[in-house]
Amino acid sequence: MCDWPACGETGEFRAPGAVPSGFDGPGAYRWFCLEHVRQFNAGYDYFAGMTAEDILAAQSPIHGWERESRVFRADPFAQNPRWGDFADPLDAIGAHMRMRVRTPEDMAAERARNAAMSLLTPDERKAMEVLGLAAGADRKALRGRYSELVRRYHPDRNGGDRSFEAKLQGVVEAYQVLRRSVAFA
Ligand SMILES: [Zn+2]
Repeated sequence: MCDWPACGETGEFRAPGAVPSGFDGPGAYRWFCLEHVRQFNAGYDYFAGMTAEDILAAQSPIHGWERESRVFRADPFAQNPRWGDFADPLDAIGAHMRMRVRTPEDMAAERARNAAMSLLTPDERKAMEVLGLAAGADRKALRGRYSELVRRYHPDRNGGDRSFEAKLQGVVEAYQVLRRSVAFA
């Protein structure tokens, strides 16, 4: 049965539940009819606070469990197919991946970044790990991740809780290292 209150339709479409998916497993699900999975997806703010790069990375089907439960939102990435438009999650993933066409310019830029990445010093590699940046990340990704982590660990955002202070300090130091790196010039 559809989980939407007072709906009597068959719950054929799976959506993320209260427990998000992660390394421990695919999390909890809830099931909706087509109409209600669309309503649910439209209001589901899974990607709140994530950068564009994070969102694209999270949607890759090679990243573990999320192929089981990933929701595609129409907005702000209008090219993404809607989860509710597909009966089979893998169809949705496939359609999504086919829409991401990489241009020769994209690939040349990525090769250049990868070449620069191979020249990183040990300090720079450590900083990449601290910020959780993958090889090939560009300056936009660096800035996006930095601003995201600063917000996440800042006491102002955590009700004055200073327990994230060491992490915040590490993030700031890592950014100071990488913003001067040739890899992010
Ligand atoms: Zn329903």
